[in-house]
Amino acid sequence: MGNIIDGKVIAKNLKMEIKEQIDKKKAEGLRGPCLAAVLAGSDGGSISYTNNQKKLCDELGVEYRKISLSDKVSEKEFLELLDRLNNDKEVDGIIIQLPLPKHLDEKKITSRLSYLKDVDGLTDINLGKFYKGESSFVPCTPQSIIKLIKNTGCSIEGKHAVVVGRSNIVGKPAAALLLSENATVTICHSKTKNLKEVCKSADILVCALGKPSFINKEYVKEGAIVIDVGTTMVEGKIKGDVLFDEVMPIASFLTPVPGGVGAMTTTMLIKNTCEAWIKNVY
Ligand code: NAP
Repeated sequence: MGNIIDGKVIAKNLKMEIKEQIDKKKAEGLRGPCLAAVLAGSDGGSISYTNNQKKLCDELGVEYRKISLSDKVSEKEFLELLDRLNNDKEVDGIIIQLPLPKHLDEKKITSRLSYLKDVDGLTDINLGKFYKGESSFVPCTPQSIIKLIKNTGCSIEGKHAVVVGRSNIVGKPAAALLLSENATVTICHSKTKNLKEVCKSADILVCALGKPSFINKEYVKEGAIVIDVGTTMVEGKIKGDVLFDEVMPIASFLTPVPGGVGAMTTTMLIKNTCEAWIKNVY
């Protein structure tokens, strides 16, 4: 029977570390960190993410500036706002809530962010540095995946890690991070042949397909660590990519959904914001 990797508990410990760091610096006389969140329109997911971000910032002593724009905001206005935030010395991190309204060019808008404030790791500079193995802001979900795996106490080095999914925000950066931890990495996608066999050879299986309950016991090797990144709404409930009850007896460790990867990501965002803050204020 496997062990549950509790993202909430791991996030709680990380929050305590972050708060300690902030309190210490504030006691030395520094201003606290500041995260600006830009939200255009009224996407339900984005509103819920910004509410969570605000709550966590309040808890940790981070100033949270939410800038709500109309869903009809022009590209010019959006870019001017980003220029102002980029130049504002009191703002350490900026997050643009995605998806953007359809008339806006996501690539052009996210490219305007200063890479020094790009705490979600979206800019080409941060991505380029990341893939070259240089210090950069790394997207929060893949960072959470690594943190959860490390928390099991099992070593990543030399393990065969299989990542199912190759998106720019989850699959590819998760695979790159696993590689940087010296795993032997295989990336799978919708055109992969023999997916079951490939997954079954994994010591670490990261599932990021967005197909609820797709990964059943036939995909999992006895004793594997299984990280379920999937979050799909099914009949009003959030569902992972892994058939939890079937895989739990086979895996050594498994993340639940909810309460696994998703429980960590906002905390990772604040961790990145604090890194930007320290660089900005010194
Ligand atoms: P995405 O952009 O839709 O990418 C899905 C990936 O899965 C694609 O690479 C696709 O392959 C692959 N795939 C789809 N069906 C497959 C199949 N039958 N066999 C093998 N591969 C298959 O999704 P995403 O943005 O990476 O997100 C993945 C999941 O994670 C979603 O459920 C999303 O909601 C969730 N998510 C959770 C968090 C969190 O914090 N917990 C954060 C971000 C995303 P192709 O490239 O060939 O199409």
